[in-house]
Amino acid sequence: MDKNKIFRNIPKVDILLENDIVKNLITKYGRECVIYAIREETDILRNDISKMKEEDQALKQLDALVSRIEKNVLDMFNPTMKQVINATGTVLHTNLGRAPISSKHLEHLNTIASKYCNLEYNLAEGQRGERYSHFEKLICRLTGAQAAMAVNNNASSVLLILNSLAKDGEAIVSRGEQIEIGGKFRIPDVMEASGARMVEVGTTNKTHLEDYTEAITEETKAILKVHTSNYAIVGFTGSVPIDELIPAANEHDIPVIEDLGSGVLIDLSKYGLEKEPTVQESVMKGADVVCFSGDKLLGGPQAGIIVGKKKYIDIMKKNQLTRALRIDKFTAAALELVFMEYLNEDKAIENIPTLRMITTSVTELEDRAMKLLWKLKKMDLPATFTTTPCESQIGGGSMPLARLESSGVVIIPDMISVNELEERFRHLPIPIVSRIVNDEILLDVRTMEPEMFETIATMFKETKVFEG
Ligand SMILES: *Cc1c(COP(=O)(O)O)cnc(C)c1O
Repeated sequence: MDKNKIFRNIPKVDILLENDIVKNLITKYGRECVIYAIREETDILRNDISKMKEEDQALKQLDALVSRIEKNVLDMFNPTMKQVINATGTVLHTNLGRAPISSKHLEHLNTIASKYCNLEYNLAEGQRGERYSHFEKLICRLTGAQAAMAVNNNASSVLLILNSLAKDGEAIVSRGEQIEIGGKFRIPDVMEASGARMVEVGTTNKTHLEDYTEAITEETKAILKVHTSNYAIVGFTGSVPIDELIPAANEHDIPVIEDLGSGVLIDLSKYGLEKEPTVQESVMKGADVVCFSGDKLLGGPQAGIIVGKKKYIDIMKKNQLTRALRIDKFTAAALELVFMEYLNEDKAIENIPTLRMITTSVTELEDRAMKLLWKLKKMDLPATFTTTPCESQIGGGSMPLARLESSGVVIIPDMISVNELEERFRHLPIPIVSRIVNDEILLDVRTMEPEMFETIATMFKETKVFEG
């Protein structure tokens, strides 16, 4: 084929600007971004044609230019970040945004975010206030701590605590607690970034009290305990509980820091889950500083919450790093609302989506799966649907061994493969993230809102997602 001829046929920008569809785009979206789309699409076209062998194929691409420009402009104004339906059953899915914020809280958050607010303004005194003031007292009341603050996430908490208390000194940590959380967050690296020198004690499976006490020197500034929240060592194991560590550390006036990771405020073993140490317990046992995530089991916004003795929290509040790690007004407001729910445990379970999903009973989930099943069956789609028992996980690096008995809907498509369907689900107007289990698609209803079932069924029908 004569490529040069085809290249010459690619319309110039001025010509494209005279096209009716393009003119319409300009009226609606403005000239600049339409020209941007024209340049981008003609470049792509040129590049594609240079690789093609068939003239037909090249001409087809040429014909599609205007519609591709149109799609380019429309995509520019269509947020890539959107709602997805989490059908994985994993409650705290880091890739899916971890803990959802309660829609009940949104009205207040909307006001805070879109208006001015007293984030750092003390209305009683008419002068500068502290952004932590809105939730500090609340957290202290719930955990028994003397003081509290919050930073961007829990990785920041660990960095800030070590930098504030152990910079240029030694911090002792057990070899059994050298964790990696994911996303390159590793205790030794954070330690280094904080300016503290790490002193490792014990072994992978066992660390004794003497291991800690023998490592204490003039240079020791802190002892760090890390809750191994995302894995479990079983068998011949042992670590030193915080209450045994405290007296030895206190004797040398060394603060004991505990990174709890998930930070639960409610004993979830009441709801059939494994026992996780609560923040209150850690504080009561004498930990000097405790930190945990805002968007793991707490069920709040992304944040790192730090509680503990006032003398230590005060040092952290004054650290320059705090300015770099500080939370915004939205997070501060969301934290206040979430902690408020915890004043009444039943309300917390009811109103915090993460806790509600984790504690939903199997009977309720079975009912829910039946509801979804019937809605799907009614649509007369080319697939087989059945309900099934299944297992959900907590996720987000919390309770790695916990499996929650759940219920779901299994889908076997008639006309396309299971892998094809799983991919198509991700391209729906409201994408569905599902799991393939035993060569079938599984929708675990634990993490799906029943109010969405009708929408899902209609979406399946309208998009012909099951058709060959
Ligand atoms: C998850 C986790 C972190 C990191 O918390 P983010 O809020 O994700 O930054 C740190 N330490 C432990 C023990 C964790 O489980």
